[in-house]
Formats: sequence, structure tokens, C-alpha cells
Amino acid sequence: MEALLNKISSSNLDASSVSGNDAIIFWEHIRKYIAATPKEKAHCLVISAEFRYQLKQFQTSIDELKEALNYLSLPQDAELILDVKSGLAERLLSHGDYKGALDEYASASIIALHNGFIDAYARSILGMGQLCNIYGDNKHALKYFKKVDQIDHAISSRSLRLSYKLSMLEAYINTEKTQESEALLKECEELSILVSDKVLAGQVQLCQAILHRKNQQIELALHCLGDIHFVANNIHSKWLLNMIRLELAQCLDAINKSHLAIWLLESAQQRAKSFASPEINLKFFIVMSDISENNHDFKNALNYQRQAYQIESELLRTIPIGELGSSQFRRLSRFDLQLKLILSEQENRELKETTENQKDTVAKLKQDAHTDPLTSLHNRRWLDIKFKELIMHNIPFALIVVDIDHFKSINDELTHLVGDKAIVQVSKILSEYFSFGTTSCVRFGGEEFLVILEQADIHQAEIHAEKYREAIFQYDWQQILGERALTVSIGITLHREGENTQRTFHRADKALYRAKASGRNQVCVE
Ligand code: GH3
Ligand code: MG
Ligand code: MG
Repeated sequence: MEALLNKISSSNLDASSVSGNDAIIFWEHIRKYIAATPKEKAHCLVISAEFRYQLKQFQTSIDELKEALNYLSLPQDAELILDVKSGLAERLLSHGDYKGALDEYASASIIALHNGFIDAYARSILGMGQLCNIYGDNKHALKYFKKVDQIDHAISSRSLRLSYKLSMLEAYINTEKTQESEALLKECEELSILVSDKVLAGQVQLCQAILHRKNQQIELALHCLGDIHFVANNIHSKWLLNMIRLELAQCLDAINKSHLAIWLLESAQQRAKSFASPEINLKFFIVMSDISENNHDFKNALNYQRQAYQIESELLRTIPIGELGSSQFRRLSRFDLQLKLILSEQENRELKETTENQKDTVAKLKQDAHTDPLTSLHNRRWLDIKFKELIMHNIPFALIVVDIDHFKSINDELTHLVGDKAIVQVSKILSEYFSFGTTSCVRFGGEEFLVILEQADIHQAEIHAEKYREAIFQYDWQQILGERALTVSIGITLHREGENTQRTFHRADKALYRAKASGRNQVCVE
């Protein structure tokens, strides 16, 4: 993609200045006259499809994504193929082509598996479960979500992890599994703190509201619904907005304001008629029918029920229910062995690579390739090698994950430049504090750091983490941040003998969620 962008700018064209229909013409021109390789042509089609989607040219957008796939080949383009298929499935789904979406999920699951892309595999299984949810088969949906849950530790995208947990939560709520729902909601709340996605955060709040309503705590439920607009301000997701309206109506009904509830749903439904998906319309009619029936308005209840029935029959006709059932599960079970193999290979790769290539790798990589330019701490590349070294020599270690609290607001309020200065200072205090024994400090990502304490037990790690947290808390931030304070949250865990480091990191990350969820500026151990 970078090569293509360079070609575009050396032809004196500017990709960022076009939008709407102009962009479609622009990318067609690039595809015909500038893109040289099939992959570059595929990129042009993917971008053009995105613009067409924004212009509501759904069918052409779908056609272009399919055409893009024709330019790509396995195994070298596996990653892009999986991306395109995931976008394609989403579009087919919103276009009501459920069979088409299922075909994309099914083929993506095979490609992902054969090429070792665990996240893409999980995404395709999640999609199959969501298809079951559309026509109300929560039990089957749960089976799919549980399949994803089995590989939770191997999923690297936090937002994907939150997405599947939320779908699972929805299925639990719909099947009245209260205990499971409460526990999973807690997990989702913690996870959503580390995922900067407003729609997902809104969805977490929505589930909380539903659970409150089901516990007859209507006031709390209403409170949550009010908060969603705060959490997910300027919600652009029509789906989420409609789900909020549905929930609000059910709360209003529960406090005997059924007229208001029906009015809210009818007006939302009128407005949404032309563009809302059938599953949303179905939900609207079911709820309106229930509320009318509760109020002895049987005539309207029946009327709404009929409309619900019509949509439901149409869904049952168009969703490939047969294919989503046991035959699909049999197909997936046949993959189980291969999946296990990939996961264990992933775990072993670390060790193998270490023994085979370590000397080479270390020699090849220069010092500066291992250092973060902003903070002079070690970077992730260095960390990969360090992890391998620790595992190869069986060295026990504690892992500390440090994340600056509410850092985004520092950037927003005081500019990125000030944000950078704060990162530098946090790093400076980190490397000054952790300069004893065999400790290493790494800048893991934006405002996230790792410390490896070799030969340390969990108690020592906790004491050091706590002292460091306190040092940050007590530091005089006036010079850099004016009146604003700065704190960090910390998660700690111990590496267990024989486990791969991704698992260790996953545990430390979980401890970090808890530190964030319990109010930040604290240390948690997992
Ligand atoms: P939380 O307490 O939950 O961690 O909230 P947060 O705002 O710190 O977390 P979030 O992950 O939402 O935001 C992290 C922000 O860090 C987003 C990104 O813009 C910013 N960031 C990432 N890398 C850099 C960098 O190198 N410099 C600056 N100034 N900001 C960065
Ligand atoms: Mg942060
Ligand atoms: Mg962060």
C-alpha cells in the first residue's frame, strides 16, 4: 500500500483531497493507470468500495469487494483476503444476504485456519453465531460464541475480544442465564476500559440497563440508558440508537408509561422503516406487541404480532438455518484438531525460534532497532528477543504492565506535544526506579510500558510496582502539565514455567483492567 501511495504522490496526485463520487473516479483512474500489481489493484477496489458504501451504493460496493478478491491469491495475500472477506460479510449482512454472508464466514474460517490467523478465525465464528442471533436462536449462537471463548487467550485484538463477549452476554441475557450474565458483564466492563470504542462501550451500558430492568431496578436501568449518551456521545451507530430506544420503551412500560413507550417505538420505527434491518424491525414489533398486550390493547397487539410474524417468516426463509446447524458444527469440529495444532505451534514457536535462530537474530539486529526513539527505553522488537531468552534459559520473572491513566484527555486538553513530554517523564522515572538487579523497561505501545523483573517473586514485584506508582503520583507535574495531575495503573503477574509469554501478558493485562476498573492509580495482581 505504501508503494502505491508513493506512486500516486509522484504522479502529482493527492489521494487525501478527494471524497464522494470524485473519490470513486479517482481510485478507478489509479487502478487503471497507476496500480501495477494485482494487490495494488485490489487495494484500489477496496477503497472505492468504501466510498460507494458511504454513498449508499450497496450493491456496487459489494461487487467491487468481490472483484478485489479476484485479484488476490493465497497464501501470500491471506491477510488482505481475510480483511476483505470480513468487510464483505458485514455488507452482505446489512444488505439482507444472509446466505452470502455465511459463505464468506465459512470460507474465511478455512483460510484463517490454514494460514494461522487466529483473530480472523475467531471473527468468522463470531459472525456465524451472530447470524443465529438474528433469527433468535440464542442456543445455537451460544455454541458458536463458546467456540470463540475457547481460544480467548490467543486472540490479540482487545476490541474483538470485547465484541464476542458482548454477543455472548446478549445470548445469556436472552436465555435468562442471570448468574452467567452478571459475571460476563463485569468482564466486559473491565475490558471496555482498555478498548477505545464508543459503540462497544455503549453496548456494555445497554446490557447493564437490561439486566437492571430484569431485576426490577427500573430507575437504575434508566440511569444507565442516560449514561450511554454520555459514554458514547454522538453515537453514529443506528443499530445502537435503536437498541437504546427499545430498552427505554420497555423501562417506560415497566413504570406504567406504556403510552409513551408505544409512541417512542412507533415514531422511531416510522423513521427507521426504510433503512433499519429486518432484525431491528422484528424486535420493534415484538416489543410493541408485548406492551400492547400487557395493556389489554389486544387489537394492536395482534396487529404488531402479525407484522413481526411476517418479518420472522421472511428471515427464516432467507437465513440458511440448515447450514448454520449441526452440519456447520461438524465441519468446525473437524477443524478443532488443526486449531489445537496452530495454538500449540504458536506456543512452541517461541522456543524453537530461540534455539535455532537466536544467535543470528541478535547479531543481525542493530542496537537502534531495539530502542524506542522518544523514550530511549527498549522497544517491542527487543522485548520479543528478551522473552525468548528468558524462556530458553528458564529464567523466572515477574511482568509489570504500566498504563498512564486518562492519557487521551491530556493530549486533548494540552496537545500531543505535552502528551509526549509526559510520556518521556513517566519513562524517565521508570528507568530510574527500575535500575537495580536484572530489570528491563520497555515501551510497549503509546502510553503503555512493561517491566520485567527477573528472579523476582510476586511480593517483591508488588512492592516495587507500588513504590513506582507512588513516585509518579508524588512527582511534581506542574512544569509539564500545569494544574493537571498524572497517575498510572499497574497490572502484575508472574510467568509460569512452561507457558508462552502471550499467556503471561494476557494475565498481566487482566490485572491492569482490574486496576483501571477499580478506580485507576493503583496496582493489581493476577
Ligand atoms: P485509560 O485510563 O483507560 O488508560 O485512558 P486513556 O485515555 O489513557 O486510554 P486510551 O487507550 O483511550 O488512550 C490512549 C491515548 O494515547 C490515545 C492516543 O492518542 C495516545 N497516544 C498513543 N501514543 C502516543 C504518543 O506517542 N504520544 C502522544 N502524545 N499520545 C499518544
Ligand atoms: Mg491509558
Ligand atoms: Mg493504553
